[in-house]
Amino acid sequence: MTMQSYMPENSEPFWRDSIDLPAFPKLDEPMKVDVGIVGGGITGLTAAYLLSKENLNVALLDAGELLNGTTGHTTAKITAQHGLIYDEFIQHFGQERAKLYYEANMEAKNFIEQVANTSNIDCDFTKENAVLYTNSDNYLKKLETEQKAYDKLNIPHEMSDKIALDLPVKSALTMQNQAQFHPLKYLKHHVNESVNNGVHFFEKSTAVDVEYTKHPRIITRSGNRVTCRYVIVASHFPFYDGQGFYSARMYPERSYVIAVKTNQKFPGGMYINAESPTRSIRSTPINGEDLWLFSGENHKTGQGKSTIKHYEALQQFAEKQFGIEEFVYRWSTQDLTTLDKLPYIGQITKAQDSVLVATGFRKWGMTNGTIGAKILTDAILEKENPYKELYSPTRFQADPALRKFTQINADVAKHLIKGKLEYTKDNINNLDVDEATITRINGERTGVYKDKDENLHMVDTTCTHLRCEVEWNSGDRTWDCPCHGSRFSYTGEVIEGPAKRPLEKRKMSE
Ligand SMILES: Cc1cc2nc3c(=O)[nH]c(=O)nc-3n(C[C@H](O)[C@H](O)[C@H](O)COP(=O)(O)OP(=O)(O)OC[C@H]3O[C@@H](n4cnc5c(N)ncnc54)[C@H](O)[C@@H]3O)c2cc1C
Repeated sequence: MTMQSYMPENSEPFWRDSIDLPAFPKLDEPMKVDVGIVGGGITGLTAAYLLSKENLNVALLDAGELLNGTTGHTTAKITAQHGLIYDEFIQHFGQERAKLYYEANMEAKNFIEQVANTSNIDCDFTKENAVLYTNSDNYLKKLETEQKAYDKLNIPHEMSDKIALDLPVKSALTMQNQAQFHPLKYLKHHVNESVNNGVHFFEKSTAVDVEYTKHPRIITRSGNRVTCRYVIVASHFPFYDGQGFYSARMYPERSYVIAVKTNQKFPGGMYINAESPTRSIRSTPINGEDLWLFSGENHKTGQGKSTIKHYEALQQFAEKQFGIEEFVYRWSTQDLTTLDKLPYIGQITKAQDSVLVATGFRKWGMTNGTIGAKILTDAILEKENPYKELYSPTRFQADPALRKFTQINADVAKHLIKGKLEYTKDNINNLDVDEATITRINGERTGVYKDKDENLHMVDTTCTHLRCEVEWNSGDRTWDCPCHGSRFSYTGEVIEGPAKRPLEKRKMSE
């Protein structure tokens, strides 16, 4: 690898670049199984692994390749420290539920640790302290309040005005005995074990609907049907929502990751600040050296400044605080947040007890996705699970859910209308290579991208999900929808749902 201090062109994440994963065929015939799982991220693969150990016949479908969704692009801290959250949960749900949330996430962490140890998975699993720090006077009080919440919930912790990392810090709250890993090395084990246990995996097999009858059927884009006793919707954004209105009950946020080498030794630990912009830091081994991961710069998908600027902001932070010797990787991805910040895990709607969903992990899906898989497999195996009620998607908590519902949907409405009105008068002949614009062609709002060979790619910018207008993401060369987070390649293919159909291609008139 050549040394480079400038940003790599490619946005392949380290996790995917450092492992070979098996490939699987497309589903090209109807099937009948006990459980059909849609989505090959941490949630779907953990569920497949757990169910296959119970001798259930399982099929797992992924629209693209396994582990190329959010799980392939995460930062993979395994922790129950999820930012400033426990005081808020105590206020909104009471002490008992806030404690249950902590216990659920610790159980997930312990499960990962136990599987990694007992199966001898070489997945760079290390125990680490999770540190929530602030350098802002405005956040000192908030961190103190969070510490009081830890006290109330008996969460082991330490408060300090110093951290091991060489960063200016006013106060830090440490949760001991947390962990980190290489998520794909860990999940490759689940794939291999599941294959040995008879799970049928299919890639490039997009699920587009569920026919809900006594035995629900997953329908794929190519028209094949998987008939099951249970469907697990682990597609990140639910590809099917059974009229549970998930689009109106969650919002997507994009975040960015850079991976660099510095001339310092990483002191251990996993760090995240309490204030904005987020700066989340951990390291992972690469050929005997430390690769430092910096992530943050969250914003709603399809909204905000040019996406390259977010990478540059992380680069500047890393450079200023630690010095960059080599800029090795950059990547970005998005996660979903629910109205009340608790994930939705369980029956997709009250009426559909054989379609189960796990989503809305608020950037804490290593533990929430793992416990989600456990809750759903327990439901299928008719076992009690202590966290079932807590996460139930059909729960109703008026506050803060209603306020957030109004905010999210007002924002969607704003973007729906704003997008229709905005376009440039750019002449596309003036477009530079690797540049895009939104303009009118034949009177219609059109997204135009000029690739490296100077070919123009033109698409209708109306999202095929609920008809908002997509925006250009220069960092990843994608068209992103500001309303519900669907993402499309520059040629219009769906990269990420909820949209299932590509953007329509446009041509210049003759
Ligand atoms: C920048 C960033 C950093 C993060 N860091 C952390 C962290 O440090 N710790 C932590 O706990 N969490 C973290 N998270 C969150 C965590 O990565 C996610 O919550 C988690 O990976 C989600 O897993 P999943 O299995 O639900 O979804 P995914 O991994 O996205 O998997 C869903 C799969 O479903 C497939 N799919 C989608 N639609 C269809 C369809 N219609 N048909 C078939 N297949 C379909 C996709 O191709 C994909 O492979 C982070 C998130 C972000 C954005």
